[in-house]
Amino acid sequence: MRKPVIAGNWKLFKTKNEALALIEELAPQVKDVDNVEIIVAPVFTVLPSLVPATAGTNISLAAQDVFWEEEGAFTGEVSSRMLLDAGASHVIIGHSERRQYFGETEATVNKKTKAALAGALVPIMCIGETLDAREAGDTFKVLETQLKGGLEGLTASQFAPVIVAYEPVWAIGTGKTATDDQAQEAHAFIRGVLASLYGQETAGKTRILYGGSVKAENVKGLMSCADIDGALVGGASLKAATFAPIVRFRD
Ligand code: PEP
Repeated sequence: MRKPVIAGNWKLFKTKNEALALIEELAPQVKDVDNVEIIVAPVFTVLPSLVPATAGTNISLAAQDVFWEEEGAFTGEVSSRMLLDAGASHVIIGHSERRQYFGETEATVNKKTKAALAGALVPIMCIGETLDAREAGDTFKVLETQLKGGLEGLTASQFAPVIVAYEPVWAIGTGKTATDDQAQEAHAFIRGVLASLYGQETAGKTRILYGGSVKAENVKGLMSCADIDGALVGGASLKAATFAPIVRFRD
């Protein structure tokens, strides 16, 4: 069975004290939730402060990006080694905002995914089509290109820890969620591509998260879909009152 993952992407929000206050409020509200992996992704600078705050809780820490080199003359970048040192266990890679505003491509996503794996971080690799691509009937083509490009050169055993997040760009931060059927269709397609790359067994074990305006009101329907194994949550992860009910989707 695939253990569900509920991950909160805090994006460019939350200073240290704001992040600590959120963890303090969230942790007791989710402490009895078992069999769900709970992850939050603060900005880089806040990661070390959240290590003691999350110690002894069921909440893990992710970074929102990683650079592919381990060290060197790369001003402004942060490597997987440094993220591990700062307390992250996971890292979001290829989020659509990074593709849109920071020039991320399949090639950079691939290098970052390999660097994360080499650095013992679990990559949460994001893929998803724009509204234009969906309307042009290119959804599957885009997903396949992003998936194969991002994973190029990885063997099945290297790929095994990777978590994939399907985030239709038109549903991120817009309040528009894919319907359960639209999301399930994309997830089943993604699992099929993974099976073609790595075999049924590995594909069957891969967690594929849905992201795009996930809220307490729609999480149950999404989580009841056969190929949806969790959620990557933006806006609704910024408050314990809206994130805890998503984590507690089984209640
Ligand atoms: C995201 O940023 O990954 C995301 C899904 O955002 P939101 O939940 O706000 O749509």
